Amino acid sequence: MVVDPPILRIEKLSKHYGGVVALDGVSGQIREGERVAIIGRSGAGKSTLLRCLNRLNDATGGAVYLRERDVTHVQGARLRGLRHDVGMIFQQFNLVGRLTVLQNVLVGRLRFSAAPHVHLGSVFRWMGRADQELAIEALRRVGIEEQAGKRADELSGGQQQRVAIARLLCQQPSVILADEPIASLDPRSAEAVMRLLADITERDGIPLMVNLHHIDVARRFATRVIGMHAGRIVFDGPVGDLCDDAVSRIYGDSRHDARVSPEDESERRSIA
Ligand code: ADP
Repeated sequence: MVVDPPILRIEKLSKHYGGVVALDGVSGQIREGERVAIIGRSGAGKSTLLRCLNRLNDATGGAVYLRERDVTHVQGARLRGLRHDVGMIFQQFNLVGRLTVLQNVLVGRLRFSAAPHVHLGSVFRWMGRADQELAIEALRRVGIEEQAGKRADELSGGQQQRVAIARLLCQQPSVILADEPIASLDPRSAEAVMRLLADITERDGIPLMVNLHHIDVARRFATRVIGMHAGRIVFDGPVGDLCDDAVSRIYGDSRHDARVSPEDESERRSIA
């Protein structure tokens, strides 16, 4: 049987900040259609891992491969290409607040333009009708097409995250990385955003890696879970294999650890 190569693969990735080891020789891969939740305590290295994958952070050692091409040290046009192909969603949405919702979504089409480096102010002049239709269709899919003409910063947090997802749909990335995408949202908006992300992996086959603070959300939405502890992967398997023992390995035993944060403590209680 021929197995497709992974979309993203990392080999012995490490990241040091001075004396702090944020990632300690992490290896793994993600394939089409997978929905991977990354869980672990604050400071475990989840965010650093995602940021090394699209080179917002540069790794100290190891390698990152996108469709088996080494992208660990690419620069210039190849780095821009990588950032277009590895879509990212952030806790704080990262929209351009003064632009309209539609313009923010059209930013996702930049990678397909003849001049992807043009200034944002002039970018929308050459966007064609087909781009506009794609953007409207993306807004319809995330359920906020009626907001298209509003300034992005007038929207609620949940709506802004939907705009970010619509922008990603227009960008057509090979993989989506989401760094705590629901941490700033109320429970209803959080549920809607997770459903939309799950729908993209199911209907479009685009794999997702999502950092999540809540293990119950990971259990409900992920097909696979990666558990991190102190910069290392201590669990990697189907969500159904996430037993109590694995949870203890990921979160440690807070009763013996004075450094545990109140957030982590409440997380442990919700697990127990
Ligand atoms: P998580 O996302 O799991 O909360 P992070 O990846 O943010 O963890 O952080 C992993 C470790 O790296 C932590 O000890 C954190 O303090 C440290 N760290 C993260 N970013 C920086 C930075 N820019 N400078 C120095 N240390 C950092």
